[in-house]
Parts: sequence; structure tokens; C-alpha cells
Amino acid sequence: MLDVDAVRGDAPAAPRRVQIGDVLIDAVHLDELMAAVQQACRARTPLQIVTVNIDFIRLAQRSRAFRRVIHEAAWVVPDGRLVLWVSRLLGEPLPEQITGHDLVRESIRLARAHGHRMFLLGGMPGVAADVARRLERENPGLCVQGDDGGSFSADGDNEDNAALVQRIREFEADLLFVALGAPKQELWLARNLHATGVSVAVGVGGVFDTLSGRLPRAPRWMQVAGLESLFQLLIAPRRYARRYVLEDPPTLARVAWLALVTRVTRKRRA
Ligand code: UDP
Repeated sequence: MLDVDAVRGDAPAAPRRVQIGDVLIDAVHLDELMAAVQQACRARTPLQIVTVNIDFIRLAQRSRAFRRVIHEAAWVVPDGRLVLWVSRLLGEPLPEQITGHDLVRESIRLARAHGHRMFLLGGMPGVAADVARRLERENPGLCVQGDDGGSFSADGDNEDNAALVQRIREFEADLLFVALGAPKQELWLARNLHATGVSVAVGVGGVFDTLSGRLPRAPRWMQVAGLESLFQLLIAPRRYARRYVLEDPPTLARVAWLALVTRVTRKRRA
């Protein structure tokens, strides 16, 4: 089990945590998180980051194993405007959204400055290797390896796990990005983080698909306006309609209602 205080080391002081649904989310800024990432790379203390959106909160409600992995992660950050909105309803605002894209971009910056090595795992066959080549081309000096990892089961078991872990170890990766979708990527990481020898690992969902150019990313104005999910829904309805139209809205309604009730009850007691 990860000891949160130990893995945070002398990184910035542990921030407050905000409970949304069954999940505790860190009120942390991206620059503070990246300071912790750099510290973990220097100290070689493995830590897992989980980026939580409404879908993660829905999945966590259904799966004890997933809840546990989120609870034991060193850092849990809000990846979604709706999560920020619920935290404001609760009266405990989270400072900013931190996405998988933000973490990849800032990690590239760190990796170039300090010589860290990056490993990309998952995605459709060949995509991670393609993204790795692109990132190396666009960022001279950067050292990245991509590997789709073969086939994974629904709870993140890999048919040839020992060989996969060995490839990551042999590459001597510092930073590991896993794109298998939630909860698979988080479950696989929690089980294999220590064995891979990496310092920092995070599940990034569909990030390789956009970095490889296979799926367009929302234009900047839509990202700024918090409309990235709407964009995804419009360009890939078969991939996202079930989640965004059917599955997530009841969870959003539940956590928003709970947040309001908690806030009103707290006010009455004060
Ligand atoms: N994926 C994978 N192996 C799996 C399941 C998913 O590599 O066993 C990849 C998939 O190709 C995609 C990403 O994981 O790039 C999941 O993206 P996202 O989080 O958007 O979820 P999705 O709705 O696509 O499952």
C-alpha cells in the first residue's frame, strides 16, 4: 500500500482534500503537482496520480477495487469542469482542472530539463510508438518509448505482464503514462507501479488518440469554456454518447445534490 505522506516526501505540503461522491480530491495547483513529480523523480519514490472526472466518480461508486486504488493514490486531481463546479456547490472550491494532456505537456518540459525518460503504454496497436516518435521529433533531447502492451482484461490484467513490466524496467523510465481507459489503467498501475521501477505514473485515457492525430482535440476556445466533453460527443458519438448522455448525468445529479445538502447542513450547524 502506498504511504501518501511518505511518497509526498518534501514536496509541497499536502493540500486539503475535497470529498465528491466516494472520492477525495486534492486541492492542488498544476505547478505544485509538478514540483511533487520532480521531487519523486529525484528521490525515486514511486507515486501514482489519478485524474478524476464524473465518470471516475460513477465507476468508483460501483467498484470497491477502483475506490481503493483512488484512495491509495498519492495524488488525486480534478479532471473536468463539472467536478470543479460540484466543489464550488459544496463551498470547497478546487483550484483548477488538471487533465492528462496537462500532465503530459508539463512532464515533457520536466523531462527535457532534467533528462527524465518517458514511457507510453496502451492505446490501439502502434499508436503509443507513433506518439513516442512524434514527441521525440518535436522535442529534441526527449527520450520516449511507446508500447501498446498487447491485450488487457477488463480489470487490467495483461496476458504477458512479466514481459511488459520488464520492458518498462529495461527502458529505465521515470515517467509512465498509461492509456487503457478507466478503471483498467488505474487498476493495472496500482498493481504494477513498484515493479516497473518508474517514479511517477498516471492513467491518461484517450490522450494518445489525440496526440497521434487520430482524434481531433477540441479547439482552444472550447477547452477554455469547459466544452471539451461536448466536442468529444459531437465528433465521436459512438464512443462517448453512452457515457456522457446516459451514464454520467445521474452521477452528476447525485453528487451535486449531496454537495448542496452538505453545504446547507453545515451552514445550519454553524
Ligand atoms: N485502450 C487500450 N486497451 C484496452 C482498452 C482501451 O489500449 O484494453 C485504449 C483505447 O484505445 C483508448 C483509451 O484506452 O485509446 C481509452 O480512452 P478513453 O479513456 O477515452 O475511454 P474509451 O471511452 O475510449 O474507453
